[in-house]
Amino acid sequence: MLYFASCFIGLLKITTNMAEKKHTIISASNGQTTTRRVGVAEAQLSRSTTGLRIGAILLWVAAFVAEFFAVKAILSPVDDPFIPSLSPLVAGIIFLVVDAILVLVGSLLWKKANHIHPASEKKPVLFWLYNNLGVIAVVLAFAPFIIILLSNKKVDKRTKLIGVIVAAVALLATGLGSYDWNPYSQEEQQEMLQLEQATENVYWTKGGSVYHIYEDCQHLDRSDSLFLGTATEAEAAGKQRLCKTCLRRHQTEVEAAQTVNENTLEEVVETVTETAESFSADEVTE
Ligand SMILES: [Zn+2]
Repeated sequence: MLYFASCFIGLLKITTNMAEKKHTIISASNGQTTTRRVGVAEAQLSRSTTGLRIGAILLWVAAFVAEFFAVKAILSPVDDPFIPSLSPLVAGIIFLVVDAILVLVGSLLWKKANHIHPASEKKPVLFWLYNNLGVIAVVLAFAPFIIILLSNKKVDKRTKLIGVIVAAVALLATGLGSYDWNPYSQEEQQEMLQLEQATENVYWTKGGSVYHIYEDCQHLDRSDSLFLGTATEAEAAGKQRLCKTCLRRHQTEVEAAQTVNENTLEEVVETVTETAESFSADEVTE
């Protein structure tokens, strides 16, 4: 079963990475043609996440089935044909481990899909649901087991205690792994898209997971050698997205530039109005 799951994931990875688009850019001034691959955010827009989401849901369902068997193994060991020689506790733990692996892989697929096609922050409920569905699946994968085991009076204390501890630890560990610490929104993706179109060159390090638009970004301080290329090249090198520090700095710079423009504009308007007023005042006095 795990073998099939890993094959399935491998297949999903291949299909999601294949959707890379290319653009032919023709220069208006000299007619030169260059083939340029579309940036990461733009390429992501054309990717389908249906496979990832279906995969996530199937794995979650499989995890709930494993949870059901964990409950069955620990509560009614005698008439279970699957695990004749194991103690109820060991059998239950084995099913819990399978449960944990399935639910975690499912939630990671879901998280990956969210980073390719994020939900909009303008719909807060949907945005929250999209970013927390993995954690909800984790809770559903362990909480019923814990509740059933705690409320059962036939199971001995030792089995109950160890079973609940194992399930609680599994819930915590897979929950932490499933939680999206850096939720990505449609709005952020749009900004990154604009940024990608505006910036030709990005920087990245061999070991890093993101790429940067500022060479002096704090996250590049400790790196001696940097790679320089397009966002697409950065993605080809395994860098998933733009660094958030760089994005924030860019936003601040854009805002500052806008404020300067607005201030300048205000000053111009004021001067013009004052001049016009003095002119008309002159006219009146004349
Ligand atoms: Zn950076």
